[in-house]
Amino acid sequence: MRPLLGCWMDVAGRIRGAASIVLFTDFDGTLAPLVARPEDARITGATRAALARLAAHPRVRVFVISGRGRADLKARMTAPGVPCLGAFGWDSGAEQLPTETLRRLCRARLEVAARLNGTPGVRVEDKGVSFALDYRGADGETGRRARRELDEVLARFRGTLQAVPGDHVLEVLPREIRGKGHAARRWWRLHAPGALPIYLGNDATDEPAFKSLAGGITARVGRRGSTRAHYFLRSPAEVERFLEGLEKEIR
Ligand SMILES: [Mg+2]
Repeated sequence: MRPLLGCWMDVAGRIRGAASIVLFTDFDGTLAPLVARPEDARITGATRAALARLAAHPRVRVFVISGRGRADLKARMTAPGVPCLGAFGWDSGAEQLPTETLRRLCRARLEVAARLNGTPGVRVEDKGVSFALDYRGADGETGRRARRELDEVLARFRGTLQAVPGDHVLEVLPREIRGKGHAARRWWRLHAPGALPIYLGNDATDEPAFKSLAGGITARVGRRGSTRAHYFLRSPAEVERFLEGLEKEIR
């Protein structure tokens, strides 16, 4: 894995040579610095403006893709011309889950919440078409117990609900929601199959997208570690520099 900004000659050459570009970027930890409370996550005005300028370019499409609910994501982005794909890319505003799936999600969520009610540092977040078990505020033993409780509940929903690990969070998704890798590839094919895809993300839920868009420019943001991305960016501040660099190359 190489530093994206440190390999600029190669990267810029590919950008300049592309007939068009589809840029996917995650939100938390990628555009917005990670914070203790997800409700405090913010992007800078410069990042927002750079995304809006890129989205207005005739050769570029931009999508923000996040595990957040779509309404929440939209409220945080507010970048003109930048569609927000919530629920790991599944929710563009046009999709609906079957009623039975929603009932199942609700039953599982309520049961997990009842088992972990009052556990310090653990919370269960209803995200409409999914739910999250967030244990980043818990100590190691409590986190393990929370994961165990979730496993026990989900054992009864096998084949219909699954847990996807993130950073100190487990996202429970119905089988209809197949994750960012499936979604990013689908949107890329739908909108510009000949375009150069670029994918920026920071955690385990982004790894399937690094894999499914392996022919493009993929970068993992944050700590270096095992990843399928070709490059890394150190922080959301470097993501902002990348976006501004990208804009200069496509002028
Ligand atoms: Mg993220």
